[in-house]
Amino acid sequence: MRLIFLGPPGAGKGTQAKRVAAALGVPHISTGDMLRAQIAAGTALGRQADGVMKRGELVPDDLVVAILLDRIAADDAANGFILDGFPRNVRQAQILQADPDGRIDRVVLLVIDEEEVVRRISGRRCCPEGHIYHIDDQPPLKANLCDEDGELLVQRPDDAEDVVLNRLSVYHASTEPLIGFYGERIVEVDGSGSPDQITRHILEAVRA
Ligand code: AMP
Repeated sequence: MRLIFLGPPGAGKGTQAKRVAAALGVPHISTGDMLRAQIAAGTALGRQADGVMKRGELVPDDLVVAILLDRIAADDAANGFILDGFPRNVRQAQILQADPDGRIDRVVLLVIDEEEVVRRISGRRCCPEGHIYHIDDQPPLKANLCDEDGELLVQRPDDAEDVVLNRLSVYHASTEPLIGFYGERIVEVDGSGSPDQITRHILEAVRA
């Protein structure tokens, strides 16, 4: 199964994409995570992406497309994958569609209102390995420490409120047109409710 997870920042794409990928036995592929890993490793690509990401803008297509196509060509993606955060605009979707590994079965659109987006993002905390928490909805067992690896939890620089508003306007202008692009392959899932409920709804929708 080859799936894309679509929705505004804070819709729960990362959390749900990980859960659904585990349930389906396919890799979770997040371009945001891959770019953050490049920044942490101090690579040339990471240096190019860093400032753009801190402002909440999109990294140039050519850079992101190159790492994404490379990743979906890997052996573990041969039987399917979940893309989280890619494509972010119609041009990326067209390039994906033209790639032999880029056939997409379904696009899961997580629907959520903007007030809830801001509440979720402002409370989001992450560890350097990418494990995600929320100070109210999903707090770690020990304050500020990751349950899985004990690392200190921090707020992503692009989760600051002014950057979130910019990311939302980038979403509306560049990413939302993908809903028209994917047409009948879109399955809408309510992104409010408990994480377990949402995972169940997504699995029902993609297996239907
Ligand atoms: P995410 O973790 O998906 O919220 O992505 C965080 C940031 O990484 C975005 O705000 C962009 O700056 C950058 N990014 C991630 N995926 C893409 C993409 N497909 N195209 C361009 N920029 C991206």
